[in-house]
Amino acid sequence: MFRFAPSPTGDMHIGNLRIALFNFILSRQTNEKFIIRIEDTDKERNIEGKDREILEILNLFNIEYQDVFYQSKNIKFHRQLATRLLSEKKAFICFCTPEELEEERKKAKREKRAYKYSGRCEFLQDIDVLEGDRPFVIRIKKPDTLINFMDRIKGSVTFHAREIDSFVIMREDNTPTYNFACAVDDMLHNISFIIRGEDHLSNTPKQELIRRYFKYDKEIAYAHIPIILNEEGKKMSKRDKASSVKWLLEEGFLPEAITNYLVLIGNNTPKKIFTLYEVMEWFDINKISKSPAKFDLNQLRDINREHIKRVDNLKLASLIGYSSEEIGKLAKIYLEEASTIKEIKTKIDKIFTPKRFEDEILNRDLEMLKLLTREAPHFEEFNDFKKYLMKSSGLKGRDFFQPLRFLFTGATKGPKLQDIYPYIKNYLKEIAK
Ligand code: GLU
Repeated sequence: MFRFAPSPTGDMHIGNLRIALFNFILSRQTNEKFIIRIEDTDKERNIEGKDREILEILNLFNIEYQDVFYQSKNIKFHRQLATRLLSEKKAFICFCTPEELEEERKKAKREKRAYKYSGRCEFLQDIDVLEGDRPFVIRIKKPDTLINFMDRIKGSVTFHAREIDSFVIMREDNTPTYNFACAVDDMLHNISFIIRGEDHLSNTPKQELIRRYFKYDKEIAYAHIPIILNEEGKKMSKRDKASSVKWLLEEGFLPEAITNYLVLIGNNTPKKIFTLYEVMEWFDINKISKSPAKFDLNQLRDINREHIKRVDNLKLASLIGYSSEEIGKLAKIYLEEASTIKEIKTKIDKIFTPKRFEDEILNRDLEMLKLLTREAPHFEEFNDFKKYLMKSSGLKGRDFFQPLRFLFTGATKGPKLQDIYPYIKNYLKEIAK
C-alpha cells in the first residue's frame, strides 16, 4: 500500500506533486493500492478548503487513488496508543513549560551544542505525576540503540539515539504530533512503501522507533526524494512563484508538461518528452539522483511547448476560449513566440480585439484596410487577398504591410502573414471591425 500524505496548510508545492506522482507511478507498477491521507491534525496551520484543492489538483493530473482519509478522524487511536506507551513505560508525561524549554534551548546555543531535551521529567514518580492539574505533553523515551533503515535512494541510513531524543508525541491539547500520527496511521493503513521528500529523512527513525515500541514487525520500504532547488541553487520555497502548482496552472502550463518535467528532473529518462502512461513502462525509483533536482523555468517552457503541439486542435482552441479547430491550428503557429496557454491566449485575443494606431496616418491607413477587408470578396489564398487589397488601397511596401500586419494580428511583429492567413481567412470580417 502506498500513500500520499499532504498537509492542508498551503498551496500545493511542486515538490509535493512530484511525490504524489512517484507514489502513483509505483502503485501502478507494483499493482498495489494507493491512498491519500490528509494530515490535518495541526488545527492552527490548516487552511480551509486546501484539502479539496489538493484533491482537485490530483484529479487534474490524472493521479488516481483508491481512498481518502483525514488524519483527524484517527485521533482516538492516537490517544489510545499514546496511553498504551505510557502504561508500558515507553513514554512519559512531561510538565516542562515552553519557557523552561526555551531557556534550555538558549543555554545549548550559548554553549554551542545541539539542543537535547534535558530528560528532567523522564524519571518522575507516579505520585508527582498525579499531583495537581498542570498542563503536560507526552514524550516518547529515546531509544537505547541505533536506528537503521534502508532507503532506495540513499542506501543504508543510521541514526544515533541522541539524534532521535525523547520527542513529544502528544501535545498539551491532547492532539498527536506529526511524527506520532504519521507513524501510527502508516501502521493502521498497512503502508508498505513510503515515498516522501528528503526533508523527512530525520523523522523516519522517530517513526521507526514508535513502530518498534508497538512491536510492529512489517518492514516498510522507503524512498526519500531529494528536494528541488530554485535557479539560484536554494531550496524552492513559497517565495518562488513557480513552486506553486496552482501558479503554474494559472500561467498556462499544461498538467501533462508539468508531469513530464517533474519526472525528468533529477532522473535519468530514456527520452525527454513523454506522457504519464509511458513513464509507467520505464520509471525506476532506484535511479532517482541522490543530489537535488534543479528547477529551470525555461526548460519547463520548452517542454510545455512540446506538449501544446500535441494537444488536439479543437481542445487547444477551447483551452484558450475559442471553439473552432482553425483557432487551435493558429495557436500552434504562435508557439514560435509563446510557450504557455496564457501567452498564446493573449496573442489570439489580440487578433480579435478592435485595433487602432496611435499615429494618425498609420491609423488612417488601418481604417481604410479594415473597410476594404469588410467589403472584400472571399479569397482562399493569401496572395490573392494581398493583391486585391494592395490594388484597392493604393498602398505599397511598408505602408501596406505595417497596417496589414496590425490588422491581422494586433501586433507589429509576429509569424508570417501567409502562415496565419489560412486560419483567419474565415474570420476577416470580424477581425476588421
Ligand atoms: N504531512 C507531511 C507533509 O506534507 C507528510 C510527510 C510524509 O509523507 O510522511 O510533509
